Amino acid sequence: MVSQSDNEVSQKLKALREKFLKRAREDIRELSTYAEQTRSGTLSAEALIRCYQSLHRLAGSAGTFGLPKLGQEARLLEKKLKSQAEQLGDTPEVHRQSIEVPEDFADGIDTLAELVEVKAESSGNPAAKQTTLVAENRIDGSHGMQVRILLIDADASGAVGSLSAELARYGFICQFVDERDEKALKTAVSKSGSAASVLCRDSILPTIMPLVISQRGEGSRRRLPVVAIGDDDTFDNNYLVAKAGASAFFSAPINVPELAERIESLAIERSSGVNGRVLIVEDDIELAEHYCLVLRSAGIEAEPLTRPDRLMAELSAFQPDIVLMDVQIGAYSGVNLARLIRFESRWLSLPIIYLSSEDDRDNQLEALSQGADEFLVKPVSDDYLVRSVRIRCYRARQLSDLMNRDSLTGLLKHSLIKQELEKELARCRRFGHASSVVMIDLDHFKQVNDTWGHRQGDIVIRALANLLRNRLRETDIIGRYGGEEFAVVLPDCSVQAAMAVIKGIGESFSELAFSVGDSAFHVTLSAGVSEINDFVNGDDALEAADQALYHRKREGRNGVTIYRPD
Ligand code: GH3
Ligand code: MG
Ligand code: MG
Ligand code: MG
Repeated sequence: MVSQSDNEVSQKLKALREKFLKRAREDIRELSTYAEQTRSGTLSAEALIRCYQSLHRLAGSAGTFGLPKLGQEARLLEKKLKSQAEQLGDTPEVHRQSIEVPEDFADGIDTLAELVEVKAESSGNPAAKQTTLVAENRIDGSHGMQVRILLIDADASGAVGSLSAELARYGFICQFVDERDEKALKTAVSKSGSAASVLCRDSILPTIMPLVISQRGEGSRRRLPVVAIGDDDTFDNNYLVAKAGASAFFSAPINVPELAERIESLAIERSSGVNGRVLIVEDDIELAEHYCLVLRSAGIEAEPLTRPDRLMAELSAFQPDIVLMDVQIGAYSGVNLARLIRFESRWLSLPIIYLSSEDDRDNQLEALSQGADEFLVKPVSDDYLVRSVRIRCYRARQLSDLMNRDSLTGLLKHSLIKQELEKELARCRRFGHASSVVMIDLDHFKQVNDTWGHRQGDIVIRALANLLRNRLRETDIIGRYGGEEFAVVLPDCSVQAAMAVIKGIGESFSELAFSVGDSAFHVTLSAGVSEINDFVNGDDALEAADQALYHRKREGRNGVTIYRPD
């Protein structure tokens, strides 16, 4: 899905900028009235607070809309009123009294009025630059996505080309590309999508790398990872391969399960770097929309929130990776909202980043100590916004993965898969569909460990995890239930359909050759399936699937059995 065309985006950005200019002019007209009052000594405390708020808003947004000078001037004036405005804010009883302000204040407002007119004409359209942000294909979720491998070689039976069939068994889409066909190479690299990797011989890296690097999209997406294979495993050659820019090197004889795993994780890492979910809490509507538009056009999901009272509901519904929080949202303080978010334990580790016009380091530190993680100082350029949000989303995901996912396989941990099962049961009740749960256990796995070693055993476990991720749908939920046991929740899937899917995966799995030195071995799996809806809770459904698995083991392993009540 391509989100929006460049042209559409720049049109929208332009419209937002015009809206901003219109409002800025109105604000400055109002400020000019107050400037007159300061000259005649009739400015009320209430008016001073309004001035302060409106300057604050201008200071934070003008730069984003292409008027940095206006923003800077507004900031200077805002600072002049800061301490007075804050004191008055705490003593409402004096609001009607007139007060004194620094004498150069009125002149400053005149400067603003000039700046908004002059600069609006002369400063080029900032949207022009933003059209370089390319719209990207998005792939959501950490599994269910098909990883594509571009196998680049001189011919299909070469060292790389011949790996195609074996890699395809892991569920990858393998595409052979002739290394001499430059046009085909270019097309393949540019159309590969986000979840992809290149595999080639180390000797052709000098011609492949420049091509891959030239195809990376305008700094908004990381380049395609390149995995090289070769014969020479010396340090010097490894160094050359690294210097050429490859992400991994495998030397002959190729350990295919390890290769498959590396390709998988590189591709996932890259595509998850493209994604991200950001909630933007900002009361300046044009600014919030501008940020959203810019982020979305870079493939990041962004939602604006202008009403802080909807904050907690929106967090639950949208499940962002990070929150960008304005420091002042109308009458609400971002610092207090950040603290409030932490009231709920599930949001304890949610990164909150202040979007602030506060450039004083001491004040920033004070705010940081109150529960937020970082500052982005307004005005934030579009490019900087995209880059910093992307990297923060990526880190946030890595962190939550560390907590929720098993380190060997990257699958959900025991407790989480059980939670997901309960959630699915609730969904079944609500929508009336049927869903299945599957327990999978590797056959004679003790023997595998005893014969081939624990390390090889781990490789087998990871190979199955990868196969499940590649073959199941994005909506399916996969967990590592225990050592060599897996639990899978298949929403909206009958037990018969579940059996067929798992059978197919089991067959592919049994065909995977795990090589150790000159010899190779194969492993099979057994599975039990039950229909979630038939049980009062998730635990009972799992227990039933486990019983079916037990029957399968007694009936000869290597297959799938559906639960039947005795
Ligand atoms: P069965 O076909 O009846 O399942 O036989 P089995 O040998 O697989 O028996 P069982 O399921 O009871 O054995 C599980 C074995 O899996 C025991 C343990 O050594 C091994 N195992 C569990 N977790 C890990 C792990 O993380 N890595 C490795 N390499 N082995 C593991
Ligand atoms: Mg604000
Ligand atoms: Mg077991
Ligand atoms: Mg077992």
